[in-house]
Amino acid sequence: MPISTEFRGRARTKIVATVGPACSAPERLKALATAGVDVFRLNMAHGSIEEQQQNVDAIRRVSDELDQPIAILVDLAGPKFRLGEVAGDPLFCATDAEFYFVAGDQPAAADEFTCSYKPLVKELEVGNHVMLADGTVSMEVIEKKSGRAKVKVVQEGTIRSRQGINLPDVRLSAPAISMADHQHAEWAAKAGIDFVSLSFVRKPDEVHALRDILQSNGSDALVIAKIEKREALERLDQIVAAADGVMVARGDLGVEIDVAQMPIEQKRIIRTCHRHEKPVIIATQMLDSMHDSLRPTRAETTDVANAILDGGDACMLSGETAIGKYPLETVRMMNRIALATEKSMADNPPRTPDAVPVGKRLHDVTRAVVKGAGTMAHTLRAKLVVAASYSGRTAMALSQQRSFVPTIGVSTSEETLRKMCLFWGVTPIRGAPAFDTQGLIRFMDEWSIAKGFAEKGDRIVIVGGSHLTAGAEGATEMTTGVHDIVIVHEVEGA
Ligand code: PEP
Repeated sequence: MPISTEFRGRARTKIVATVGPACSAPERLKALATAGVDVFRLNMAHGSIEEQQQNVDAIRRVSDELDQPIAILVDLAGPKFRLGEVAGDPLFCATDAEFYFVAGDQPAAADEFTCSYKPLVKELEVGNHVMLADGTVSMEVIEKKSGRAKVKVVQEGTIRSRQGINLPDVRLSAPAISMADHQHAEWAAKAGIDFVSLSFVRKPDEVHALRDILQSNGSDALVIAKIEKREALERLDQIVAAADGVMVARGDLGVEIDVAQMPIEQKRIIRTCHRHEKPVIIATQMLDSMHDSLRPTRAETTDVANAILDGGDACMLSGETAIGKYPLETVRMMNRIALATEKSMADNPPRTPDAVPVGKRLHDVTRAVVKGAGTMAHTLRAKLVVAASYSGRTAMALSQQRSFVPTIGVSTSEETLRKMCLFWGVTPIRGAPAFDTQGLIRFMDEWSIAKGFAEKGDRIVIVGGSHLTAGAEGATEMTTGVHDIVIVHEVEGA
C-alpha cells in the first residue's frame, strides 16, 4: 500500500467554518463537519451569549453523534468601531465632498457622522485617514476644531449606518478587551471553548491579558491573536511568541494596511508562526464568490492553494458558511482544493528539516524525539505515526513537520483532542488508552486494521513518554509531559 495522502477523504489542512444562520441548524452543522470542518467559529460580533451557547450545545451534540472531536473557536470582537446613523442612508460620498465627525450620539446635520468609539474625534489628527465600507471609501482629516473633525473624501463610494470604521494611522487608546469582550471571554471559559481569538491585537500584553481572564475562569483555551493592525505587524515576533496561534485576519488587515502589501505580509506572518511552532489560520474571502455561486473563481482556488503551500495550518470560511447560499458546497470545495494541493506537496515536502524553531515551550528532548519519529516513519514507510499527547504540544510538533505519513493524535483528555483539530495533518481519535503503552499498541493494531490503514506486518510509529525524563526547569503545563520514546511496531492480528 502506498502512503496515503488522504485521511477518510479529508484534507490535512484544517478547515475553520463560521457559524451563522446559513448553517446553524444541527443537521447542517453535522453535514459540514462530515464534509471536512474541523473547527467551528462563533463570531461574538453577532448574536447574544444565549444564542452562541445554543450553537455550542449543537456542535457538541454533533461531535458526539459523529464520534469525532470538533473544536470551537470563539472570536472576540475587540476594539471594532462603527458609524452611527447616517442621514440619507445609503449615502454616496463623492470625491472631495466634506463631512464632519462629531462627538456625541446623534448627528445634528446631514453632513455629520458619529462613531461608537467616543474618543474618536479627540484622537483624530489632521492627515489621518478614516476608512469606511470595508475600505472602499476613504476620507482624510483636513481640519480639527473642538468636538469636530472635518474630513474630505479621497476615495468615493457609498456608506451605510453602523458600518465598521478602520483607522489605519491612528494610535487609538481604546482598550484591547472591552467590557463585552471580557464578558464573552468569561462565558467562553465556562463553556469549555477550545480557542479564543482576539481582534485588533496591537501588543503582546493584550494576548497575556486575555489568557489571564481565561485562566482565572478555569480555562486553558488556546489564545489566537488576530493580526489585522499595522501595530501588530510591527511587533509580530513578540505577539506570535505570546499567543498560542495566529489568524491572518485579511478582512481588516487589507484595510488597515495597503492591500497591495497584504500578500507579502501574509507570507511573513506564516513564516513567523513556523519559527515559533504555532499554528496559523488564513482567514477571509478565501472562497468569497461562493456566497452565491456554486463555483469559486480561479483566483480564489489559487489563493487557498497558495495559503496551504506557504504552510498555513488552517483555512477559514466566514460569510461563505455563515450567511452564504452554499455552505456545504463551499466546505467541500475547500476540502477538494486542499487535497489537490497536498497531493503535490507530498511529492515535494516543503519543510526544511533543520529550521531552528524559536519556540521555548517544547522540551528539547520532545522536539528531537518527534523529529526522529517523523524521519523514521518516512524511512520505514510506516502506515501511521501515533502521538500520545497530554497537552497537544507533541501532536503540534509532529504537525509542524508536514509529514505525509498519516498522523493520529491520542489523548485521555477530550479537550486536548479538540485542540488537535487545528493542527495540520493530525487526526485526533477518541478512546485510545494514550498513556498505557501496551494498551495503546493493542488499540492501534485493532484500530488501524479496522479502518483500513494497515495490515498485519505493516509498521506504525508511536511517540510516547517513559516518565523518566524530568521536565525542563520552568516547564509549563505544556512541557511537563516529556516525550522520550519512539516505538516502531509491526501490526499483529488477523
Ligand atoms: C478579518 O478581519 O479578516 C476577520 C477574520 O475578522 P472579522 O470577521 O471579525 O472582521
